[in-house]
Order: sequence, then C-alpha cells, then structure tokens
Amino acid sequence: MQLAWSPEDEAFRAELVAFLDEHVPPEAAGGFDYADAADRSGGELLPDWARAWQATLFDHGWMIPGYPPELGGRNCTPVQTLIYLEEMASRRVLRSFHFPGYAIVAPSLLEFGTEAQREIVPAAIRGDTVWCIGMSEPNAGSDLAGLQTRAEVHDDRFVINGQKVWTSYATIAQKCFCYVRTDPTAPKHRGISTVIVDMDTPGIEIRPLRHLSGVGGFAEVFFTDVEVPRENLVGELNGGWRITQGSLAHERAGLWVDGVARLETTIEGLVDLARRRGVDRDATVRRRMAELYERAASLRALGYKGFASFAQGSSAPEHSFMKMATSELSKECFEAGMQLQGAYGAVVDPDRGEEQGRWALGFLTSFAGTIAGGSAEIQRNIIAQRVLGLPRGT
Ligand SMILES: Cc1cc2nc3c(=O)[nH]c(=O)nc-3n(C[C@H](O)[C@H](O)[C@H](O)COP(=O)(O)OP(=O)(O)OC[C@H]3O[C@@H](n4cnc5c(N)ncnc54)[C@H](O)[C@@H]3O)c2cc1C
Repeated sequence: MQLAWSPEDEAFRAELVAFLDEHVPPEAAGGFDYADAADRSGGELLPDWARAWQATLFDHGWMIPGYPPELGGRNCTPVQTLIYLEEMASRRVLRSFHFPGYAIVAPSLLEFGTEAQREIVPAAIRGDTVWCIGMSEPNAGSDLAGLQTRAEVHDDRFVINGQKVWTSYATIAQKCFCYVRTDPTAPKHRGISTVIVDMDTPGIEIRPLRHLSGVGGFAEVFFTDVEVPRENLVGELNGGWRITQGSLAHERAGLWVDGVARLETTIEGLVDLARRRGVDRDATVRRRMAELYERAASLRALGYKGFASFAQGSSAPEHSFMKMATSELSKECFEAGMQLQGAYGAVVDPDRGEEQGRWALGFLTSFAGTIAGGSAEIQRNIIAQRVLGLPRGT
C-alpha cells in the first residue's frame, strides 16, 4: 500500500506553495472559519483586492487547475486537484468571493452553451463578470421544479415576469443565470428553460436582504416585462432541468476538503478557548472536545475513502454525506463555543463576545451551510433513496 504522494505530485505541491508564498494577499489568508465572504471583507461583498486575487489565480493557471490554461488552469490530474484544494484549505485561502460564475455558470456553459456563450466563460472564471443564480422563488426552493417565474416565448426574445429570492450577489452582479418557466402546460420538470439575463435590463428590481448573521449579500429580484434576446437561451428550450445539475464535476470529489479543514480550525479554536477560560481540565468539556475532534477526523477519513473510489473511476456515495455532515457538525462546534463562554456566549457584539463575537456569529452563519445548495433534510432524502436504496417517504 502506498501512503505517500508521487514525486510529480510533490513537485506540483511545491510549485503551488511557492506561488502562494509569493502572491496570496494578506486579506485572502488565515481568515475566520465561518468565512462568509462579507464577514471577511468588513461587510463589502466583493472588495477590489479579492477581484485582483481571483484574476491573479486565473492568469497563473491556479484558478481551476483541472481546466486548460485558457480557462485558468493547467490540465492537472484529479489527485493534483485534491492537493490544490487541501493546500488552499489548510491555509484558509479563498479562491474567490463569488462562486456562481466559476463554479456553476462556467461548467454549465461549457457543457450546454452555444459557441458565443462559451466565449464568455473565461471572464466568468477570472471573475471579470459577476454572476448570480436565479433559481429559488418564494414557493420554489427544495422543490425547485415548482418555479413559476414565467418567460413568454417570442420569435426573437423572451419576456420575463416573476420573482426570485435568496439570490446571492444580485446587488453586484452583471448577469443572472436564470431559470424560467417557458411551457406552463408541460409537466413541471419539462417546462423550464435557462436564460442569461443582463442585470441592467429595464424591468429588473433588486431588493437587498440580510442574512441571519446581519451581513448583506442576498436579494429578492423582481422581473416585470423583462425582455431577453432569444440567443440568451442556454441549451434547449424547455430543457433547463438538465442544466440545474451543472457544477464543477471534476472538483466535486474534493469539495469536502474545505468543509473539513474549516471544522478542524473551529475545533482548534474551541480547545484554545477552553484553555483560556480555564475549563480545559473539566471532564465534561474534555469529552465534548474529544468527541467533536473524533467526528471531524472520521469525516476526513471518509472524504479520502470517497476520493480513492472516485480516482479509480467508481462512484463515491461518501460524498453525498459530506456536505450535510460537515455543515451539521459545524453548527454543533460553534454552539459548543458559545456554551464555553457562559452568559456572553450568545453576544454577537464584536466588543463583548470572545474573539469579536466569533462563536455567536459563526453559529448564526453556520445555518447557511445546512440550507444553501440543498437543505440537510433534502440531502438525507437523497442519501436514503440513492445511496441506501430506501423507498420514497410518504
Ligand atoms: C447562504 C445561501 C445562499 C443561497 N444562494 C442562492 C442563490 O444564489 N440563488 C438561489 O436561487 N437560491 C439561493 N439560496 C436558496 C437555497 O437554494 C434555498 O434556501 C434552499 O434550496 C431551500 O429552499 P427554501 O429556502 O425555499 O426552503 P423550503 O424548500 O421551503 O424548505 C423549508 C424547510 O422544509 C424542509 N423540506 C422541504 N422539502 C422537504 C422534503 N421533501 N423532505 C423533508 N424536508 C423538506 C427543508 O429542509 C427546510 O428545512 C441560498 C440559500 C442560502 C442559505
């Protein structure tokens, strides 16, 4: 059994480390473990240095290393992608402050887009264009196929009316990757299309919303007779459901790394907190710390097991579990941090709570992880049906 990286992979890591040592801006590194983009940037959704950092990564082939150079990568292997994600996570370096463009829009356009649409992919990955994703609506979140934003189909254009909600980055985005109903008579999964909407089109109104933690970043987006050229259709008319599954598939096997690394940082912080508060000899506290540590370590082992299956060409059911498990454990860790502080534990005020309210803010922010991209309950349904083969619940 080989438990070491190959010399080529070690050389890849060395090149990455040298690049990071030279280029990572101080603001991008060593941030909080509850890293919500706006928390890390003092409330600004997309600071200039973060734009510059993403462009630097792209220009040096380190933005999506598995992609070719013209798409901000260097054609690296899956193992090297894992090394990349590990190295970035262990340094707590964020690649980008706005994931929709590089992580969702780019792979979707590469797979389904027209030639002209594929030409706008490099700008999405480099971060030159800011994108938002218009999926969720007031009555369509987990049940996304129930979306009702309507697009009338004309020969040369679509006319959109309706509302989206929880649209991250809508307040700063230039474009929206928007899911609309183009055939209200078809079964609900079959009447949806995907269109690219320029956010400065007349008829779009954006109303900002705040997260539970107090930071901005979300918005409601209202569409009133918004005209979109026909060539902005992505993929086939009424074929939008297939596109909802689009993401960086080749990175999926390593996406758990960031969640686990963040957990490990949180648990190290908990142990420090227990020491500072003089409760590190308390048997109950020690047992709780050990339990959290052991669960994070098990998740890391499970992530590697899934990655090994993936690298050998098999499916990796472990990865269905990782997002749910890391986000749920994160909530527990921050709650433990609040409890360790006693009465002040729930104080978010940066002048009063320990570490500028890190534990209470982290607890509030941690709920996002159990909702965004499919709630923990929906993940459990998927695991029950697709991994365990159980029948659908009634
Ligand atoms: C940080 C963050 C960023 C987001 N960014 C975006 C974005 O950019 N664009 C976008 O379109 N959306 C975005 N969302 C919205 C997100 O996709 C939805 O919140 C999510 O899909 C859940 O939908 P919902 O809020 O409508 O809740 P609902 O679907 O109404 O669910 C409410 C509750 O019921 C549970 N539930 C629902 N159905 C079932 C079921 N079948 N079985 C068991 N339990 C069930 C859910 O788990 C949840 O607890 C974001 C959300 C968050 C938290």
